[in-house]
Amino acid sequence: MIKFGPSGSSNSFFDEGYKTTVEMPKWLAGRGLDIFEYSFGQGVRLSSETATQMGETFKAENIEISVHAPYFISFGSDNEEIVLKSTEYIIQSLKKLRCFGGQRCVFHPGSEGKQPRKDAMLKIMNAIEHTVEIKNQMGYQDMLICAETMGKHAQIGTVDEILEICKIDESIYPCMDFGHINSREGGSLKTSDDFKRIIDKMLDSIGEEKTKNMHVHFSKIQYGPKGELKHLTFADTEYGPEFEPLARVLFDYKLTPHILSESNGTQAEDAKFMKNYYWSLK
Ligand SMILES: [Zn+2]
Repeated sequence: MIKFGPSGSSNSFFDEGYKTTVEMPKWLAGRGLDIFEYSFGQGVRLSSETATQMGETFKAENIEISVHAPYFISFGSDNEEIVLKSTEYIIQSLKKLRCFGGQRCVFHPGSEGKQPRKDAMLKIMNAIEHTVEIKNQMGYQDMLICAETMGKHAQIGTVDEILEICKIDESIYPCMDFGHINSREGGSLKTSDDFKRIIDKMLDSIGEEKTKNMHVHFSKIQYGPKGELKHLTFADTEYGPEFEPLARVLFDYKLTPHILSESNGTQAEDAKFMKNYYWSLK
């Protein structure tokens, strides 16, 4: 089934007096939301014991939890140590994801740096292939790692690059961040046909299963000449993208992605808006 929820805690969660993530699942269930993404962006600094406790509260409310791996991951780096560290960040994230009882771990592949883009891409492909081997050796075969489309031109993560990365292994799924795609392409996503072109390309490239159950980040994002600048809220009317044209395509194609709002402070409200809008379609 299609699922909606926030990435991280929205302002409203704190404004209502809540403080910790163990209180989150009940709060989300009360709002009619389905999923939550926990960020290890600044590092994996959660004990397994706490993660297991958190996992139990999420399970009790039937809220599915995913994680975002550290932002320091850089599989294209020419510093071998950073590449090895990047694999380690994925494994650390998966370990806590297991405690949470979740299945999906989102990551940013890396940047081109000073090398030609195709060289960076090749390095990234090799490093991710190696990471999958380690992941399987460690007993995390059943977990999905989701490669994210990125918003800045220097980052590896165009739609085509992410689809290439997904072909490395059956456990690599796309995290389609439509705000990032729109930012790096200078406002390319306006009509349902714009979204449809991407979905059709996905079906063609990685097949039905990965397209149908893709991971999605959706928020409006301010952009400039180099791409992404700043995450906005659904109150924005200037940058987009709008959710409604995408919803039409998801509905018509009967897709069942997990859709996380990464709005700036209004993640829970904007996730609920998306859920309500989707279910209003006929
Ligand atoms: Zn991300």
